[in-house]
Amino acid sequence: MRRFLGRRWMSTSTVGWWDNVGPAPKDPLLSITEAFLADNHPEKINLGVGAYRDDEGKPIVLQCVRDAEARIAGTEYLESLSRQGVQAISGTGACRLFAELQRRFQPDSRIYLPVPTWSNHHNIWRDAQVPQRTFQYYNPASKGIHFAALMDDIKNAPNRSFFLLHPCAHNPTGIDPTDEQWREISYLFKVKNHFPFFDMAYQGFASGDLKKDAQAIHIFLDDGHLIGCAQSFAKTMGLYGQRVGCLSVLCVDKNQATAVKSQLQHIARAMYSNPPVHGALLVSTILGDPGLKSMWVKEVKVMSDRLMKMRNALRVNLENLGSALTWEHITNQVGMFWYSGLNPEQVDRLRNEFHIYMTHDGRISMAGVTTGNVDYLANAIHEVTKSG
Ligand code: PMP
Repeated sequence: MRRFLGRRWMSTSTVGWWDNVGPAPKDPLLSITEAFLADNHPEKINLGVGAYRDDEGKPIVLQCVRDAEARIAGTEYLESLSRQGVQAISGTGACRLFAELQRRFQPDSRIYLPVPTWSNHHNIWRDAQVPQRTFQYYNPASKGIHFAALMDDIKNAPNRSFFLLHPCAHNPTGIDPTDEQWREISYLFKVKNHFPFFDMAYQGFASGDLKKDAQAIHIFLDDGHLIGCAQSFAKTMGLYGQRVGCLSVLCVDKNQATAVKSQLQHIARAMYSNPPVHGALLVSTILGDPGLKSMWVKEVKVMSDRLMKMRNALRVNLENLGSALTWEHITNQVGMFWYSGLNPEQVDRLRNEFHIYMTHDGRISMAGVTTGNVDYLANAIHEVTKSG
């Protein structure tokens, strides 16, 4: 009820507009970063965030990006980009656009997500209101892929289901199918008429070779699948804050591609109108120039080699400490993450006693490991796993 009091209308209602709003659940990674920043211990280590750091623990700007910056300076307001696929707000935005396309044009479909997967996949398809199912991927006993169970789940899903696949450097497990296993998966997808949607966030981080890391996608393409693919340039070009991504949807012919592309642009138009130009211009400058491209290829290898070197160092240190446990999975897994198998209690001890921060599922970002802290980390892991 509103009453006229003097010269102003005053609301007498006691219910405010947002009284029904409680705080959203905290993002697990953001709370780790907050706790890490609040910790004053000199030897603290942040192994939560999946962003590349150099051996000094510092974020880097790739040289190919610096050179591309110099080349495009001042041109970005003049140029419009001609694009294959649809430019998206990094990998997250590419997934979100695809989920929306799926809901609009395959309204009875679901999305099958691996167990485990990047936790935001669940949020993205939830907000697009696409029902979710899961398929088995990781075997905690072997700390490797659960291939037979994965194949069973693919077989038992209704024909023409949508599956999200990580083509390389699976997050969070660091375990990828072999090429032979990808061929089997692709064959079964053909039999079942499933749709493969690839989320490519770490190209180059698994093997150090951009082409090799795209091999799973080539296997599917060779088998004649029509695929969807989300690409993020956050990690692979170190353009985290620029939010450059691409969504590609392979169609049967040009007409279909034109229609699908126009629908994706239509979806994006209502969400954010247009994506930002600057980062995309950097990417297209690098990809379009043979010199810058080969510089990029080398820089990706440097990042990936450093992560592999740290995996080796951590494993050797743990073995040298006389740990009775096996640590092969540190070096068997690839990419940015080591899915350590540490349990929540051990993760808590690492944080409380050693100031080492990681997600509760025991995922360790190898990007946070450096020559300077690997001994301290190995000792701490040895301490908390000794009696386990
Ligand atoms: N997919 C996976 C599997 C990821 O790990 C990430 C980033 N953590 C993304 C997509 C999206 O990343 P961005 O939006 O930063 O490109």
